[in-house]
Amino acid sequence: MNVLCELGLPSDEATLTRLAKAVEAVRQGRVKKYVFRPSGKTTWIVVGKKRDYWVIPRLYCSCNDFYINVISRRKSVVCYHIIAQALAEKTCSYEVFNLSDEEGRILEEEWRRVDI
Ligand SMILES: [Zn+2]
Repeated sequence: MNVLCELGLPSDEATLTRLAKAVEAVRQGRVKKYVFRPSGKTTWIVVGKKRDYWVIPRLYCSCNDFYINVISRRKSVVCYHIIAQALAEKTCSYEVFNLSDEEGRILEEEWRRVDI
């Protein structure tokens, strides 16, 4: 699938496993885009098993897999949430929510939290 190519990812087994999980997340409608007003700021969220994760496209995710395998062990460059976000954006398969900046500030604190 060319999303791997776009993200500059190898087609190794670990990446393909993440891709399969990402496809499932997109199919289940677990990728959300929040647009805040009046700033116009956007935030991408992928709903995981335990909580919502904050994804900066192609760059960062607040999940444990990202923290452990990307930041600490450097075994990977992405978690499946990052692949899911890219896939959803490319195929327009995401839900959009409009909220106020005020509401966004409260949610963002929760989303950015890393549980280690
Ligand atoms: Zn993640």
